[in-house]
Amino acid sequence: NAKAIGKNCMIWYDQNLLDRLNQDNLILKQMHRALAQHQFQMYLQPQFEVSTLKIIGAEALVRWKMDNGTFLYPDDFISLFEKDGYIYELDFEILEQACRFIKTYNVASDFSISVNFSRVTIHHKQFYQRLHDVLEKYKTPIGNIEIEITESAFHDLSNGSRAILLKLREEGFTIAMDDFGSGYSSLNLLDSISVDVLKIDKFFLVERSQKREMIIGLIVDIAKTLDMKVICEGVETEDDIDLLRKLNCPLGQGYYISKPILAQQFAEQFLNHEREIHG
Ligand code: C2E
Ligand code: MG
Ligand code: MG
Ligand code: MG
Repeated sequence: NAKAIGKNCMIWYDQNLLDRLNQDNLILKQMHRALAQHQFQMYLQPQFEVSTLKIIGAEALVRWKMDNGTFLYPDDFISLFEKDGYIYELDFEILEQACRFIKTYNVASDFSISVNFSRVTIHHKQFYQRLHDVLEKYKTPIGNIEIEITESAFHDLSNGSRAILLKLREEGFTIAMDDFGSGYSSLNLLDSISVDVLKIDKFFLVERSQKREMIIGLIVDIAKTLDMKVICEGVETEDDIDLLRKLNCPLGQGYYISKPILAQQFAEQFLNHEREIHG
């Protein structure tokens, strides 16, 4: 868009960019209050066995219901929270909601909830201690929580954080490398970092091509060779399921089974009712 100002002077502006800046300001103004007002909600998306479609876990994904009714998705605010450092509070809020869910529904010991932790959060001085404090508070078994860290965060891991992740694995936490294959030198990371799970980035399925199908197959084989679990994100169609079966990819996550939904709805739809504790 162009708006004429005066006679000879033209200013170009982009309405989208202006909207974006206005929204960013609103987010920064409201974020500290949002936590106290319980505006962040954990949604859960099922993770399943590809061969049987049995639900084996869920990923916790945050949504923000602002007080003006606006509903925000993580891509609208996570990077702003990271710049501010506030992401640390948010990540732990979602972890708490995950632990509360595990307790409320007395979920099976082999059912895990994957919680996303920002690079900022894992570098926080109190990360290790607070993680243990929260699990202790809800008496959550370590095996019920999976820690998800996006691939790119492993590139700038400090020695201290690296040691902490190692220690957490020794204690029995499962650590997943999220969005695997989306960054640069992913293979190099496999040599220098040890994690338990590779989550193949949804891009390879969502923007499927013959080449990308072969790449998924290669990542599955690498994971198996290195004795890691592997799960493919972005499973949207029956066709995607068929492909993953052909490639022997054991686990999947995506709209084909369900979008991320509210925790209570998840429990009603996907948890065994006999497991529920009442009161
Ligand atoms: P992610 O961890 O890779 O999560 C998967 C994203 O893919 C989610 O987007 C999910 O809704 C979406 N998705 C799931 N199935 C499908 C599918 O079949 N097709 C397509 N096209 N998309 C699918 P969402 O919920 O918008 O989250 C975006 C990202 O925000 C997440 O990517 C994660 O990196 C980050 N995020 C979400 N919650 C948190 C949080 O509590 N803390 C932190 N630090 N980051 C979070
Ligand atoms: Mg994730
Ligand atoms: Mg991610
Ligand atoms: Mg991902």
